[in-house]
Amino acid sequence: LPRVLSGIQPTAGSFHLGNYLGALRQWVALQDTAEAFYCVVDQHAITMDWDPAQLRQNTLVSAAQLVALGVDPARSSLFVQSHVPEHVQLSWVLECLARFGEASRMTQFKDKSQREGAAGSSVGLFTYPVLQAADILVYQADEVPVGEDQRQHLELTRDLATRFNGRFGDTFTLPAARIPQGAAKILDLQSPEKKMSKSLPPAGCVFLLDDPKTSAKKIRSAVTDTGREVVADAENKPGVTNLLTIHSALSGIPVPELEERFAGRGYGDLKKELAEVVTDFVAPVRARTQELLDDRAELERLLAGGAARAREVAAATVATVYDRVGFLRPA
Ligand code: ATP
Ligand code: MG
Repeated sequence: LPRVLSGIQPTAGSFHLGNYLGALRQWVALQDTAEAFYCVVDQHAITMDWDPAQLRQNTLVSAAQLVALGVDPARSSLFVQSHVPEHVQLSWVLECLARFGEASRMTQFKDKSQREGAAGSSVGLFTYPVLQAADILVYQADEVPVGEDQRQHLELTRDLATRFNGRFGDTFTLPAARIPQGAAKILDLQSPEKKMSKSLPPAGCVFLLDDPKTSAKKIRSAVTDTGREVVADAENKPGVTNLLTIHSALSGIPVPELEERFAGRGYGDLKKELAEVVTDFVAPVRARTQELLDDRAELERLLAGGAARAREVAAATVATVYDRVGFLRPA
C-alpha cells in the first residue's frame, strides 16, 4: 500500500470548508487504499502568536473534528505532532541542508510575515516548511493530500530529500503532492481573490463548527460579481464561480448541471440553496465532534495509540538518518 501523510494546524479550533474540500476529504477517502498517517500539527501552530490554554483545547477539538469527518483511528494513525519527537529531531538535520535562499522564496512566509514584517516574525515561521518536510519524510510518505497552496512546500520537501539522498545515500522516499481536482482552492467569500483562510476576517470563512445560522448568513452575504447570470467564469466571476465550486463539491452535482439548474434565476437563489447544502453537511459534523469531546479520556486514548504507531516508523527513519550524517550512536 502507498503510504500517505498529512497534517493540519489546530490554530482556529474549527476547520473551514477550504480545509475540508481541499485536503480533509481526501484524507478520509485515502484510508481505503493507503497506509495513512494524519496529524494535528500543534508545533506549526506556535510559529505565530498563540495562547497556551487555547492551543491545548484547539488540539483536542481538531482531533475530534477529524474523527467526526470520517478519519478512522482504527485504520489510520491519527496523532498529535508534539507526541512524536522524531519530527523535530529530523527537522534539525534538514535545516542544516536547506539553504537560506530557498527558504526565503517560500510565498507562505511572505504572506504570513506581512503583519509583523520579516524582521519581527519568528524564526520558526521562517523554518516552518522545513519542519513540514520532516513531518512528511520521517514517514517515507509516497503521497501527501493537500490543497493547492501547499504545492511549493512539497517541492521544497522533494528538493531536500533529493539533496540528502544524493549526499548520504538513498534514504528518503520522494513524496508526491495529491491535490484534488476542482476544489483544490476554495476562495474567501468576502475577498474572492484570496484563498479561504482562517487568518482572514471570519465573515469570508465558513467554519465547520459555526452554528448553521452563521454559516447560512456568511453564504448569503458572499460577495458576488457584477452581472446576474449564474455561470462559472473564474476570471471575471470569481465569487459566483467559488459558490458553484463549493456547491458542486458538496452536492456531487457537476458545475454545468448547476448552471442549467440556475439558468434565468439570480445569485440569490444560488446562495439560498448553497446555504442549505452547507448546513446539511456541517450539522452532523458538529454534533459528532461534540460527542467525541464529551469523552475526552477516550479521545486521548485514541491519540496515544496513533502516536505509538507513528513513532515506530519515525524512530526507524531518524536512527538511519542520524547514522548516515555521522552522529555518534549513544552507547
Ligand atoms: P492558514 O491560512 O493560517 O495557513 P489554513 O486555513 O491554510 O491556515 P492549514 O492548516 O495551513 O490551514 O492547511 C490545512 C490544509 O488545508 C492544507 O492541506 C491546505 O492546503 C488546505 N487548505 C487551506 N486553505 C484552503 C483553501 N482555501 N482551499 C483549499 N485547500 C485549502
Ligand atoms: Mg495554510
